[in-house]
Amino acid sequence: MTSSARPLLNRRLAEFGTTIFAEMSALALRTGSINLGQGFPDTDGPEEIREAAVRALRDGRGNQYPPGPGVPELRTAIAAHQRRRYGLSLDPDTEVLVTAGATEAIAAALLALLEPGDEVIALEPYYDSYAACVAMAGATRVPVTLRPREGRFRLDLDELRDAVTDRTRLLLINTPHNPTGTVLTCEELSAVAALAVERDLLVVTDEVYEHLVFDDAVHVPLATFPGMRERTVTISSAGKTFSFTGWKVGWVTGTPALVTAVRSAKQFLTYVSAGPFQYAVAEALALPEAYFDAFRADHQRKRDLLGDGLRAAGFEVHRPRGTYFITTDITPFGEKDAHAFCRALPERCGVVAVPNSVFYDDPEAGRSQVRFTFCKKDDVLHEAANRLQRLAS
Ligand SMILES: *Cc1c(COP(=O)(O)O)cnc(C)c1O
Repeated sequence: MTSSARPLLNRRLAEFGTTIFAEMSALALRTGSINLGQGFPDTDGPEEIREAAVRALRDGRGNQYPPGPGVPELRTAIAAHQRRRYGLSLDPDTEVLVTAGATEAIAAALLALLEPGDEVIALEPYYDSYAACVAMAGATRVPVTLRPREGRFRLDLDELRDAVTDRTRLLLINTPHNPTGTVLTCEELSAVAALAVERDLLVVTDEVYEHLVFDDAVHVPLATFPGMRERTVTISSAGKTFSFTGWKVGWVTGTPALVTAVRSAKQFLTYVSAGPFQYAVAEALALPEAYFDAFRADHQRKRDLLGDGLRAAGFEVHRPRGTYFITTDITPFGEKDAHAFCRALPERCGVVAVPNSVFYDDPEAGRSQVRFTFCKKDDVLHEAANRLQRLAS
């Protein structure tokens, strides 16, 4: 028996009905629009990596429960990647944990490290799972807003400092940042690190776009800053880097104590996942530098292609230095409400985008921002740009 007076969805999750992606993808389907809302590539990752997955399946590697921390081949490849790229040395046996995508890594980290009543500072606009996971952990999110100024979305370090209270347990950082496309600078990151050390805070850092940085931007993991190794849980994933978002292979790196804590939650969420894909991702991480260079150059070109189209259509374009996304502003059209704009856009132009306003606690802060993804084939981006020109006339 359920009491009719009591809602089925619990209080912690009540504010998170359905994600904006479900709403907008359904709209795309219904109107036959080009979907530049959700960020997933329309071209699969490298053929040889797909073959590696097939080989693993055929050879019976990973068809049964893989080891809890992940298969040794993948943990070793993750450690080698962190050493090669960032000079971070990790013990693959105690400092690496494979997860069901970055999504599970985020959930497990927050569920493991937070007590009810703890405060978590997250950069706003934030990736939608952050707020839900903080809520599931019974903690409270405290947003610090990234604001566009002089060509990029910036972190206001005074605002960040002022947001820390005696109840703050953890800083939840994302760089390169979805949805704004900002890449935190060394100066911003060292201030975050200094604050974390000074106030003895844990840091969870979502770096799934580590290989998607453009122009002169450089991705520097927070774990490389002084005093950070021992307090930082670093999260990344194969989905974005290798264009296999359906494989759901992610990972956590950190000290043995942090990884053990995250694993305590992870083992009761999925236990293990993606057996054969883990072997394939181990091979992907060992791809030659040429793969990563071409991947980055290709996406930078796509960013410019869509960015030019959006500018020509009349949007204000915030040029991203990383990720799959361009955040625009619709104020030049004399419009203010991004959600209404996105609901009407399929009828007006046959293109779907998402309103950034749903990624803010402060509804005013992102009210006129609309996000488009450019991780699509060139002809799709050209066609979308053409359709959007209707807004200009
Ligand atoms: C896509 C994305 C994720 C989810 O990664 P999965 O590996 O697909 O679970 C996490 N964080 C951010 C910022 C993302 O954009």
